[in-house]
Amino acid sequence: MSDNPFFEPSTLVYELPPFTAIREEHYLPAFERGMADQLAEIAAITADPQAPTFDNTLVALERSGALLRRVGAVFLNQSSADTNDLVDAVDAEISPRLAAHQDAIHLDAALFARIEALHERRDSLGLDAQSLRLLERHHTRFVRAGARLGAAEQARLRELNSELASAATAFQQNVAADTRARALVLDSAEQLDGLSADAVAAAAENGRALGHDGRYVLSLKNFSNQSELAQLTDRSVRERLLAASLGRAVAANGPLAIRMAALRAERAALLGHPSHAAYVVEDETAGTVEAVDALLARLVPPAVANAEREAAELAKLAAADGIEEIAAHDWAFYSERVRRSSYQVDAAVLRPYFELERVLHDGVFFAANLAYGLTFTERPDLVGHHPDARVFEVFEEDGGSLGLFIGDFHARASKRGGAWMDELVSQSTLLDKRPVVLNNLNIASPAPGEPVLLTWDEVRTLFHEFGHALHGLFSAVRFPLFSGTEVPRDFVEFPSQVNEMWMTWPAVLANYAKHHVTGEPLPADLVERMTAAEGFGQGFRTVEYLAAALLDWAWHTVPVGLEIADAQEFEGRALAEAGLAVAAIPPRYRSTYFNHIFASGYSAGYYAYIWSEVLDAETVEWFRTNGRTVRESGEVFRAELLSRGGSVDALECFRAVVGRDPRTGPLLARRGLA
Ligand SMILES: [Zn+2]
Repeated sequence: MSDNPFFEPSTLVYELPPFTAIREEHYLPAFERGMADQLAEIAAITADPQAPTFDNTLVALERSGALLRRVGAVFLNQSSADTNDLVDAVDAEISPRLAAHQDAIHLDAALFARIEALHERRDSLGLDAQSLRLLERHHTRFVRAGARLGAAEQARLRELNSELASAATAFQQNVAADTRARALVLDSAEQLDGLSADAVAAAAENGRALGHDGRYVLSLKNFSNQSELAQLTDRSVRERLLAASLGRAVAANGPLAIRMAALRAERAALLGHPSHAAYVVEDETAGTVEAVDALLARLVPPAVANAEREAAELAKLAAADGIEEIAAHDWAFYSERVRRSSYQVDAAVLRPYFELERVLHDGVFFAANLAYGLTFTERPDLVGHHPDARVFEVFEEDGGSLGLFIGDFHARASKRGGAWMDELVSQSTLLDKRPVVLNNLNIASPAPGEPVLLTWDEVRTLFHEFGHALHGLFSAVRFPLFSGTEVPRDFVEFPSQVNEMWMTWPAVLANYAKHHVTGEPLPADLVERMTAAEGFGQGFRTVEYLAAALLDWAWHTVPVGLEIADAQEFEGRALAEAGLAVAAIPPRYRSTYFNHIFASGYSAGYYAYIWSEVLDAETVEWFRTNGRTVRESGEVFRAELLSRGGSVDALECFRAVVGRDPRTGPLLARRGLA
């Protein structure tokens, strides 16, 4: 098997994975050898007859698992961005084995004994700050993973982790399958009235691709609320589209969600916590369940009041159409009408000013140049994970090279919904690695020869994900454990949210928002009106987000042993109890397709988006008012925060930039909740 491209480090620049050589059959053997290699490396650490030292234990642990890291990063990306049946099968097979592998390390008594011994005399080891933090963090991770439990409890813990890993993979695959299966098939173009001509053409093309020749298919996207709901004039079509979305994976994932919540509660109890949420937030910047409760409770009443004010506006317009009560499938449609009538903003009028190449080069990259001095060169000679993936080399202001950025911007059947950042190679000076980072988006592919025109929200997503990319690219740490985005979950969205500010920063906006045919700049008054119209939608957006955050919270604050009979009933009760059962605003995700909390790392962590927005709003304020140039401010933000990864306490980084503790005022003002 010497032809397995994962077995040796890549020889390409920046150790870019050799995608042209990688095939599905390489994954399983690479995972297996990678796990075996790492266990052998751990065994060598524990067999060392010398007393434990920082180098022979912690540094050795950080160096271990190189092959597993290589294959894991590439596989994680492929399973999300370009999956197929073979990859899904490997995922189902390997997930519980990887969980067991993690347990084999964290529950290795001899290894923990060495870490414990070092931890006990940590102050006399003469360690520098980052090394001391590495020791602290590993010690905490081992304890939180169950290193101090007895043998019987550890055995149960292994079972729980294995079952949870399998369940998470099944959950995600169920969501993907039912999201495909519930695409809305329509017979005539009239039913699509309200959509743009290119959207109708795309629905027809989608019909052809999915075996419904001559019909029109609207595939479902991630969120509950489907983007077409804003335009479709046929109320019954809107109703069917939303019902298809809200009903996803109920049968398969309802029982699975109940099972996972019970397993997580049991695991938390084993580890000495009253709930999974308590276990999770102990290690986050929030610290306690009460702190999260307090923020959510503070936001709910004003957000609901805002939404009710918005509903009253919508009702006026809907009444003229004979609609007595606004339903969930009417909300986006009449919001769009309000935007047009009260703010003279038409989403369709904006798109010609947001052409992908311009937004990317003259917006996203331009802002990174303005703030950080970066420049970007596309490298068509370097091959990404898919023909759509484009590779850019990133350079410092002085011309020095920094890393690679890969952009995979388009939707396809093999890619999961949403947008996210991944790292193919994580920066570490210990391992002599420079970063290779990746953004995945889901922008619809245009008809051949047509330009790619983005919506306002897609432009924001592009800036957002690039904020995560910068966090990975600027990483300047020694140990892999601290690389780039390896920060608390309720902190990791903060840098990406800050990067969204460039979208409407006057010098940046003027540079990229130009009509794709005439080159005319986006009229300034249109921007003002769009910003005002955004304020109008805050009630809806905040309520749909908070509803999802509270669902996550409800599932993960259940005590061990609580019997949940039905997922949808549990969900309804949780929202009602939180004061968030706004009938016309469904949660951004309902439980049965809430991948964030049941299939990826956001369980008891969805609150993180608004938690980090507190820091984001403060930092945007700071950029605007600190008296420095944008370039100078960018340098401070990079040096004190973006480059630190997890090597410094997260809130300490924030204070080093802004100069004090965060306050909620700027967030409340921004969301219209003051
Ligand atoms: Zn993000």
